Amino acid sequence: MSPPPADVALIGAGIMSATLGALIQRLEPDWSVEIFESLDEVALESSNAWHNAGTGHAGFCELDYAVPRPNGTLDVSTSIATGEQFHITRQFWSALLASGELPTASRFVQPMPHLAFVAGAENVAFLRQWYDTLRREPLFAGMRYSDDSGQIGEWSRALVDGRESEQPIAATYEASGTDVDYGAMARALIDAQVARGVQLHLRHRVTDLEQDGDGWRITHRSPAGTRTSRARFVFVGAGGGSLQLLQRSGIPEADGYAGFPVSGKFLRTRTREVVATHRVKAYGRAEQGVPGMGAPHLDHRTVDGEGSVLFGPFAGFDPRFLKAGSRLDLLRTVRPGNIGAMLHVAKDNVDLLTYLIREITASHGKQMRALRKLMPTADDGDWELITAGQRVQVIGKDANGRGRLQFGTELVTSPGNRLAGLLGASPGASTAVPVMIRLLQEAFPDRYPGWADPLRELVPSLGRTMNTDAEWALDIRRETAAALGLDGV
Ligand SMILES: Cc1cc2nc3c(=O)[nH]c(=O)nc-3n(C[C@H](O)[C@H](O)[C@H](O)COP(=O)(O)OP(=O)(O)OC[C@H]3O[C@@H](n4cnc5c(N)ncnc54)[C@H](O)[C@@H]3O)c2cc1C
Repeated sequence: MSPPPADVALIGAGIMSATLGALIQRLEPDWSVEIFESLDEVALESSNAWHNAGTGHAGFCELDYAVPRPNGTLDVSTSIATGEQFHITRQFWSALLASGELPTASRFVQPMPHLAFVAGAENVAFLRQWYDTLRREPLFAGMRYSDDSGQIGEWSRALVDGRESEQPIAATYEASGTDVDYGAMARALIDAQVARGVQLHLRHRVTDLEQDGDGWRITHRSPAGTRTSRARFVFVGAGGGSLQLLQRSGIPEADGYAGFPVSGKFLRTRTREVVATHRVKAYGRAEQGVPGMGAPHLDHRTVDGEGSVLFGPFAGFDPRFLKAGSRLDLLRTVRPGNIGAMLHVAKDNVDLLTYLIREITASHGKQMRALRKLMPTADDGDWELITAGQRVQVIGKDANGRGRLQFGTELVTSPGNRLAGLLGASPGASTAVPVMIRLLQEAFPDRYPGWADPLRELVPSLGRTMNTDAEWALDIRRETAAALGLDGV
């Protein structure tokens, strides 16, 4: 007799599956959950600490989120929405810390001020406008601004040392920013689930998904051979591998999607004296014609207790959809239903293609020159180039069926078919909690009303906006800042 199907199968053991598993364990502790991961360990792809920048994106420093309106004002709604989302994440982490489901906060989150930093008169004027617009919003009321190099030097020596004194510079500073090791977080979440009975199958690569009664038959390949398992509900949290699996599942909601891989690289230094000059995350402004994901940033990181500074990202091209993927990944996802969208996107995004070609052919000298725009004293000998995670930019279709490049995270749910998956990379890991809560709402419409109250106990701001109730928001911020050991609120 074959064993009964699991209630839930999570494909991939990155931060998304880890977060969904943690939510399910809270809401339905009796459900059986199995996790299938193709690699030897949890979180070795994009969620690994060195494969992303570790920014807890809260809207404090990402200048490209602001959209200029025709009347000259700035639309900062994306910054506010990102802030709201990260506060949901902070509340969930705090609740898991309080219940002991996560170990000490310092294992995965560090207080790390977030700065936006620019040079040149035009950029300084833009930053001033950005700051003046955002500081009226309660979630951003604590942000500071300065165009004084003495003050900016107190925030980060690296940004001012060696800089021509006549060049105008300006920065904003938000003390409650974070640096997050999403790999450590995913491992801690999955360890807690395994301790409560979740089955984690490492070295099990899922190769096929077929509908089976009211659930799914999952084919997986492991060193022991090819086997099948069954589950009533499947989450495809396979990162760059999600598109192929969603296509294989045959759900209509995955029709028409395509993906384009962009690999990331960072310059990294571990030289102590250099690292000591920059204990913040500083995000610059993308140059004209460069997409937001190409905005330069200089990040202090703490990984396994050791400090370092990363600069990047530099884009590269690799046809694989995962670092451990196949060179045929891109080809394998091309279908008659998505090739038109891919061609449209290529035609409509000449700027992006030019940027990618420029990046791929950039020499080490050019990369160092880009770094010196933020850290003028950077010395070649202190920096090494490391390869970060693979991003698969999602190509979807607009209302007219025309291909459209999507920069956000795309949740694909098929409630009738009891399957959901996640595509896309940005803002990524920081949004894991709100995105996985949205998944529960969309994929389990019958169950969700019964989960809403327990979810609000974990995340009091769920379904409300913190930005419109300053005092209440401040209480929540104080509580979560204390739980996570953050500076400021
Ligand atoms: C250069 C770069 C910088 C970034 N910086 C940030 C940042 O600063 N802040 C932020 O919030 N986000 C950032 N992100 C985004 C963030 O890293 C991702 O959104 C997040 O890690 C995705 O998590 P995931 O669980 O979906 O995917 P992953 O972590 O990639 O996990 C997917 C897992 O699925 C497994 N898998 C794949 N196929 C199969 C299969 N067929 N069978 C079984 N297992 C499979 C993989 O081995 C992997 O372990 C960045 C990303 C990149 C590339």
